[in-house]
Amino acid sequence: MSVSFALSPEQQQLKSDVRAFARGVLAPLMEQVRAERDPQIRAGLMRPAVEAAVEAGMLRALIPAPFGGAATNGVDAALFIEEIAVESPDFFITMAGPLIALAPVYEVGTPEQIERFVSPFLASEGAPVAAMAFSEPDGSANFGAEAPADGVLTTAVPDGDEWVVNGRKAWSSLLPGWDGDGPDIMTIVCRTPGGVSLVVAEREQLAGRIEVEEYYDLPGLTGCMTARVRLHDVRVPKSHLIGEEGDGVRLTLNAFMASGASIGTFATAAARRAWEVAYEFATTQKRGGAVPIIEYQSVSDVLADTKGRIEAMRLLGWRSLDAVIAQDPAGGELALHSKVFGSESGLAVVNDLIKVVGVTAYDSNFPLVRHLNDALAYPIIEGSNTGVRRRQLQAMLAAEGFDPLAASGLS
Ligand SMILES: Cc1cc2nc3c(=O)[nH]c(=O)nc-3n(C[C@H](O)[C@H](O)[C@H](O)COP(=O)(O)OP(=O)(O)OC[C@H]3O[C@@H](n4cnc5c(N)ncnc54)[C@H](O)[C@@H]3O)c2cc1C
Repeated sequence: MSVSFALSPEQQQLKSDVRAFARGVLAPLMEQVRAERDPQIRAGLMRPAVEAAVEAGMLRALIPAPFGGAATNGVDAALFIEEIAVESPDFFITMAGPLIALAPVYEVGTPEQIERFVSPFLASEGAPVAAMAFSEPDGSANFGAEAPADGVLTTAVPDGDEWVVNGRKAWSSLLPGWDGDGPDIMTIVCRTPGGVSLVVAEREQLAGRIEVEEYYDLPGLTGCMTARVRLHDVRVPKSHLIGEEGDGVRLTLNAFMASGASIGTFATAAARRAWEVAYEFATTQKRGGAVPIIEYQSVSDVLADTKGRIEAMRLLGWRSLDAVIAQDPAGGELALHSKVFGSESGLAVVNDLIKVVGVTAYDSNFPLVRHLNDALAYPIIEGSNTGVRRRQLQAMLAAEGFDPLAASGLS
């Protein structure tokens, strides 16, 4: 069988539908978001768009088919993410919390847990949200470390038929939910007597037990709701433990695998839009000279080099998401390359394109630096490249029997 990179008619349709939603709904929404100073109000502006996406079946399209959704393959997911993220990566991050928070439930959840925790996200109305509560204010990169290190500080203590959860969490999108009473579900990385574990709290257990300490004011991805919260005696049924006690480190790292792969696609979207802006400038602006600036070799070299990098990032994003979702053993390594190479290339590309445009780019109203602010996030979110992702690559490369051709299927 040959490998084809041509989009099927269904994928062409998917691309066109999502692009129409992004241009029609998200582009005007982002004008409003950029004009709002208060981070909590800004994030709340996303809610009607999430409702519209849920009604259009877009959230369901991201839930894997075996769990009642319609997601089937990684290239579709990459097309979806890129078209949304060209206009509003903030929106995808807001809507897609369940992709990470439910990943451990898909992996090891009991049939009852799957039924209970997935069903809110199969609805065709409302704006259900989920948070993967991994990060903590005092650090996350060493969350699995044992004493004398702190590791994860949030605790879940058994008390009769319940876990009593206490601690502070930070950064996860929608940790406070739309109204401060919590998201529909929160998957909490915590320490139980048996080690690092995952428990799922529902909104009914979180309401009144979350104290929002601060809504973060982000320089990019400004429509995302990120906050620092304290959990006070959140009582969760014992049956909400996901997998076994002590499985939390492995399940958490696995949960961030597909989202890590998708960061290469987010970075592609930022770089694509920045390239379009710089190209338009270079082909139309003479800046006092006799010819448009693209006629200067130094300018066109940057445009050519950045375009080539964007093409490479996009293909790696497709390939890695395809492998992760197909559960191809190559997915683990490819997801890390898409995260690390994709995020760092995206940032470098946008930075290079700013130099093509010159000082005009330094006006906040000129549509370029905003993509740099988004791209700055990609090396540090979904597990920073330095603190988490390169360490995962190091462990892979240093493992006995590492096969350098396996990621390409060429062993
Ligand atoms: C918009 C947005 C959305 C987010 N969504 C979520 C989410 O849904 N869920 C969630 O839990 N988090 C989320 N985060 C946080 C994000 O995933 C971070 O990547 C994560 O908290 C890890 O950060 P860190 O690696 O910088 O950790 P930290 O522990 O804060 O480490 C800080 C730095 O110290 C250094 N370092 C620490 N330990 C080591 C080590 N052992 N080796 C080498 N260097 C080390 C590294 O330079 C590292 O970057 C989000 C953040 C943003 C901005």
